[in-house]
Amino acid sequence: MELYNTLTRKKEVFESAGQRVRMFVCGPTVYDYIHIGNARTFVFFDVVAKYLRFRGFDAQYIQNITDIDDKIILRAQKENQDPLTIAGKFTEAFLKDMESLGVTAVSQYAAATEHIDQVIKQIKTLIDKGHAYLIEGDGWYFDLSTFPEYGKLSKRTTEMADDAVSRIDENQNKRNRGDFALWKLSKPGEPSWDSELGKGRPGWHIEDTAITEHYFGPQYDLHGGGQDLIFPHHEAEIAQQEAASGLKPFVRYWMHVAFIVNKQAKMSKSLGNFTSAHDLLESYPKEVLRFFLLSAHYRTPLDFTDQNLIQSEAAISRIGEFVERIKIIANQEESTSSDFTEAFKKDFTSALDDDFNIPNALAALFDLIRQSHTAADEQKLSSTDAQEIQNALGEVNAILGIIPAQATAIPEEIKKSVQEREAMRQNKDFSSADALRQKISDQGYQIEDTTYGPLLKKKKTS
Ligand code: AMP
Repeated sequence: MELYNTLTRKKEVFESAGQRVRMFVCGPTVYDYIHIGNARTFVFFDVVAKYLRFRGFDAQYIQNITDIDDKIILRAQKENQDPLTIAGKFTEAFLKDMESLGVTAVSQYAAATEHIDQVIKQIKTLIDKGHAYLIEGDGWYFDLSTFPEYGKLSKRTTEMADDAVSRIDENQNKRNRGDFALWKLSKPGEPSWDSELGKGRPGWHIEDTAITEHYFGPQYDLHGGGQDLIFPHHEAEIAQQEAASGLKPFVRYWMHVAFIVNKQAKMSKSLGNFTSAHDLLESYPKEVLRFFLLSAHYRTPLDFTDQNLIQSEAAISRIGEFVERIKIIANQEESTSSDFTEAFKKDFTSALDDDFNIPNALAALFDLIRQSHTAADEQKLSSTDAQEIQNALGEVNAILGIIPAQATAIPEEIKKSVQEREAMRQNKDFSSADALRQKISDQGYQIEDTTYGPLLKKKKTS
């Protein structure tokens, strides 16, 4: 199994001592509902953890929840509420969204505010080892001049380190431009914790390393997140943990997911061009959303368009119809021995073994669907074949979560008309096909032609 490591910019063979994989992914900052871009990252790593387990690894998967942060405080001030109440509300909404999206692989969610002792402990180690300093009245900062390797993940230099400095890290009296806050001393109205560092709250980067050091130790196997986090967040994590422990590498494999883009721009809450996963889940089943999110390779940007969602709906409806047909054949009496799914299983796993090439794994699935339909049309698909297909689909579902429990219920006569229309289109008899489309429409159904075949939907009655 190979995966692309951001640290080395190469595909590398994935190895882990004793089959145990300690895996950490940066979770949400809970000041709003998560958007579909965030969901891409979380659904992708859900697949990574499930596939590692399928491959026999014992994956322990932790995700943090940033429940104390500038953005949360800002929203709370605007709404005249307590920041921790806002964080609590959106943590709950986030966990519900994860459940609705079928994201079930996370072994443990770790909230920042529940790990303040670990944060303080790690900052004290950094102070003791000469990596952190105090700016009176402001907070404790990491001194980048004490960590010359800063920039090794993002391939940036210390001089470029202020490119992405956030508001929390601004102070005229810093020793180096890119120095970042580890602990901010409290301001009136902000949540704060008493400590030897002074009454305050954690900086942006420290919660992740404090959490992982606590559960995994100073070194672990796999760290993931969205591409936006490579710099400065993950760079800062490396500096904190390697400086604190003196051990390298902090993490063996770094994986980063490309953005969901909305009309060419990154989708983000602060840009205001985001669509929440919560809203989409009201209109689409989880299988459709997961299919959409997994339809492009994780290292390429994914366009959020109606057309892409329609394609995903069509794909899921095709899979649903296939599941129904296979169920009928699997329940027939006769049976013979079969290795019908052998080639599929090989193609599916080699695609995932190749840096999680999910689009290729999906292509293998649609090949299986096509071949099985042809065999069934020719009466060559035995019930044993069908049972084997059902088992294979079960495995696919345990990893990708895209197999619907049942096909959309469409009356038989409408289904027949759709098939007739497809035959007309294949024979290039477009005027008859259009007339039949109109007839189907008059009966309350709408057809969209997609690369996965016709998508049939009940028309909305307004
Ligand atoms: P945030 O709540 O902004 O801290 O983001 C939570 C997770 O979603 C992080 O791993 C981000 O890197 C990731 N993320 C943020 N925006 C996008 C996007 N447009 N596409 C994909 N992932 C994203």
